[in-house]
Amino acid sequence: MANLRLPPLPTIRDIIRLYGLRAERQLSQNFLLDLKLTDKIVRQAGKLAGAHVCEVGPGPGGITRSILNQGAVSLTVVEKDRRFLPSLQMLSEAAEERLKVIHGDILKFNMEEAFPTDLKRDWQEDPPGFHIIGNLPFNVSTPLIIRWLEALSNHSGPFIFGRTRMLLTFQKEVAERLVAPVKDPQRSRLSIMAQHLCEVKHCFTIPGAAFVPKPDVDVSVVHFTPLKEPLIDLPFKLVEKVVRSVFHFRRKYCRRGVESLFPLERPDLTDEVFQKTDIDPMRRPMTLTMEEFNLICHAYNNICLRIPGIQEYNYRLH
Ligand code: SAM
Repeated sequence: MANLRLPPLPTIRDIIRLYGLRAERQLSQNFLLDLKLTDKIVRQAGKLAGAHVCEVGPGPGGITRSILNQGAVSLTVVEKDRRFLPSLQMLSEAAEERLKVIHGDILKFNMEEAFPTDLKRDWQEDPPGFHIIGNLPFNVSTPLIIRWLEALSNHSGPFIFGRTRMLLTFQKEVAERLVAPVKDPQRSRLSIMAQHLCEVKHCFTIPGAAFVPKPDVDVSVVHFTPLKEPLIDLPFKLVEKVVRSVFHFRRKYCRRGVESLFPLERPDLTDEVFQKTDIDPMRRPMTLTMEEFNLICHAYNNICLRIPGIQEYNYRLH
C-alpha cells in the first residue's frame, strides 16, 4: 500500500498561532493539541486503513491528522467556522488528494451525496468501510445523535451505506446515559433510544487538561455500531414517544408515564398495557429491561392501530 503517513507538519499549537485560531468560547470550541491523544481517540473507531471517513467539526485538525495517519483513503471534513479553512486547506495539500474540506453545517450536510455509492453494504452484512468521527460542541452532538439514531432506524442519511459506525464525543454525563444498563441511576430515554439500535461503547474520558481552553465539563468518547436488528422493531417516533413518556416520570412508578400516553378518561388503556405485557405497574422506569420496553411499545402500538387518534394524543395539551 502507498505510504499514507503525512509529511512533517507544524504542530497544532503552531497552526493555531500561525493562523490566529483563537477558540471561541461562545461557540464552545475546545481544541485537542496532543497528537498522541488524538491517535488514541481515533484508534477507537477500529481499523481505518483503506476506509472512507467523514469528520465533523475538525477545527484546527488534530483528529483530522490522526485519521489520515491511520491510513484512511479518503476523508471529508465538514467545518462550520470559516476561520479554520486555510489551515485545513494546507493539511489537504499535504495529504495529497485524500482530504476534502467542506465549509458547512453538519446539521444541513447531505452525507448520501458526498461518498461513493460503491461503499454501500447490505444492512445484514459487516459494517461498510465508512466511518463518522467527530469532536463537536455538545449543543450540537447531543441533538445530532438523536437525529442520526432516527436516520439509522430508517436506513437513511449516513446509513444508506449500511451499518455505518460512529465515534463521537459527549459531555461525560451524556455518555454515561448513552451506555447506562438497566437499574443504573443514569438509565434514561437516551439509553433506550441508543441501545435498542446500536452496540454503544463508552471508550474513555478525555482529561479536561487535554483541551485548550479547558472545558467546564468532562468529555467522553463513545463508539456506536448499528445492530443488525433493532431490539424494538417499531417506528422511531413511536418508540421515542413511549420511552420519553415513561422516563418523564422517572422517580414514579412506570404506570404514571404509561398513563400519560392516553386520555385521562381512558385508564382502561393503561390497564391493558400492563395486562398484555405482564409487567408490574409499580416498577420504576430505570428497572425496565429492553425486552420490557419492547413489550410496552408493542402493546401501545396495538392500541394505536385499533383506536384512531390515540397516537396523536399529547397529555401536555390537555
Ligand atoms: N475537532 C477539533 C478538536 O478536537 O480539536 C475541534 C473541536 S471544537 C469542540 C468543535 C468544532 O466543531 C469547532 O471547530 C466548530 O467550529 C465545529 N462546529 C461546531 N458546530 C458545527 C456544525 N454544526 N457543523 C460543523 N462544524 C461545527
